[in-house]
Amino acid sequence: MVKTKISVQDIARELEVPASRLQQIVVELGISEEEARRGLDPETAQTLKEMALEMLETLRTLSLPAEVTVRELAQAMERNPTEIQKHLMVRYSQLVAPHQKLDREIAEKVAADFGFKVQWPAPVEAAPPPSPVVGTQLRPPVVTIMGHVDHGKTTLLDYIRKTRVAEREYGGITQHIGAYQAEYNGKLITFLDTPGHEAFTAMRARGAQVTDIVVLVVAADDGIMPQTIEAIHHARNARVPIIVAINKIDKPEANPDRVMQQLTEHGLVPEKWGGDTIVVPVSALTGQGVDELLEMILLTAELMELKADPNAPFQGTVIEAKLDKGRGPVATILVRQGTLRRGDVLVVGKTWGKVRAMFDHTGRGVERATPAMPVEVMGLSDVPVAGDPAERVESETQARQIATERQEAEREQKLGQIGRRPSLQELFKQLQTGEIKSLNIILKADTYGSVEAIRDALLKLEKPPGVEIKIISANVGNITETDIDFAVAAEAIVLGFNVKVESSAQQQAKTHRVDVRTYRIIYELLDEVQKALKGLLEPERREVHLGTAEVRAVFRLSRGITVAGCYVLDGKIYRGRPARLWRNKQVLHESRIASLRHLKEDMREIAAGYECGIVLEGFSDYQEGDRIECFEIQEVSQG
Ligand code: GDP
Repeated sequence: MVKTKISVQDIARELEVPASRLQQIVVELGISEEEARRGLDPETAQTLKEMALEMLETLRTLSLPAEVTVRELAQAMERNPTEIQKHLMVRYSQLVAPHQKLDREIAEKVAADFGFKVQWPAPVEAAPPPSPVVGTQLRPPVVTIMGHVDHGKTTLLDYIRKTRVAEREYGGITQHIGAYQAEYNGKLITFLDTPGHEAFTAMRARGAQVTDIVVLVVAADDGIMPQTIEAIHHARNARVPIIVAINKIDKPEANPDRVMQQLTEHGLVPEKWGGDTIVVPVSALTGQGVDELLEMILLTAELMELKADPNAPFQGTVIEAKLDKGRGPVATILVRQGTLRRGDVLVVGKTWGKVRAMFDHTGRGVERATPAMPVEVMGLSDVPVAGDPAERVESETQARQIATERQEAEREQKLGQIGRRPSLQELFKQLQTGEIKSLNIILKADTYGSVEAIRDALLKLEKPPGVEIKIISANVGNITETDIDFAVAAEAIVLGFNVKVESSAQQQAKTHRVDVRTYRIIYELLDEVQKALKGLLEPERREVHLGTAEVRAVFRLSRGITVAGCYVLDGKIYRGRPARLWRNKQVLHESRIASLRHLKEDMREIAAGYECGIVLEGFSDYQEGDRIECFEIQEVSQG
């Protein structure tokens, strides 16, 4: 029985690739040239096919980082970021700067448009979300004191601190670390000692709710004031129970009944009047009623059954942080779950470190901290932000990695926000029109006054017919990377008046050949723009021959794409450059080299003597013997 022979060409055709791309596998399988031409036996052909499929699969798969920017995606596909940017605008109506992150769905769509499949990394073990603070053992309540200014919050905190903080052997030195623990009847209460609402709301805004109970201080002589109402709203929004301390009852003009009346009007009906709001009259000055207040706090806490598990993995929240000249970054961390020990490796928000030393609120060095205990921690690599979560991780490497990832995520997010300026809408429209010749300008100046003055003067400049000036954006501030990115997208020049070019922007401008000019005199700026406008007159064009390739085979791929298998006769063929197709001394088509490949790889250029696969933009009717000429247009300005 005669076995059917299958040629490499057949396999290439079946797989819709140029035969040259299978060359490497042919060599690997030890198939001689002769054999390849005559045909392979079915088994070898099958092996070749399988290997080719595998190769094609890996070739067309992009391994992207978890979060990919336009620039990274472009690079992975060997494209120009501007091309991808334009594709995003035209196809998906998305205006995205090169440094901006793409969401995965869009990145996949764009990749697919360019014939790639995306492979995302396996998800990195993310920091566990702070679990609801539950556990096996009762823990002290965490209390925040709120209320209107001058109603006595600080005085109350100080009084409790003075009378209820167990004095240690080093006692007496007051350490303000942002929180302290008071003891009453053998039980602890943690007070956050940054009174006021900012700390509370700032922490809540960061998703950190550490407060279990709010003590609302209302001065008996002043009654409910705007900040009192604000505090009530904050506590309610956070669903934190409120205990009211009517303060300054030592004062002769104190009128607690009036305060209770006002409280009722705001939905806080005192127990005494049949409601369920605990109201305690106190004097932070004399200490009258303070014990009762502490008792009420403990009673409320008991009813709340606040629990934690000291043996669970450690989780905490930053209460306060600063850079101490002598000690470096110091953070007060409130333990919420588990136990924090000296030597633990932590990730704290976007920073990390190993706990070198810990101090409690009396300034005493401690080895461990249990739930609801605030401790001052040394050893972090940077200063975290109040409200940042703190977690223990296994190794310093892991800690550093997580912190770095968070920093990068934040950076991207920030850049993304800059990118959403309204002027982009304008930029978008301008790019859409595109027909008219224009000098696109991105203007940066030191003051709003100069921005306006220069903008007006620019628009009044004398322009050659058919040419116009478009101010893509005009803002106050130094020239940044973002400006350069938009200049690239809008094909604009960047003008600065009395501003600096940030060094990252300088680099970016160099890479993308963006024209950045700075001036100290408005007249000079206008004069140069006037000159630039003249440069926009139709330039003299000169064509330069770059290379010629001859079509030796034609491969038809699915999706209607046809590839010309070529041999470069002279010079070089460049991807992206203009090209024309000659047949019998006639030009059949003129466009540009859309794709250029050698064996399996996309190439930027191919020199004489090499084979390559060429796809001309908008053409598919190649014939053996056609010649593809690659050229370049050089422009000579009229000056
Ligand atoms: P904060 O702005 O709410 O922290 O209020 P402060 O604690 O700074 O108190 C403001 C003023 O009220 C200070 O002069 C305190 O001495 C005074 N003050 C606070 N509590 C009492 C109190 O119970 N009785 C009296 N008579 N004065 C008080």
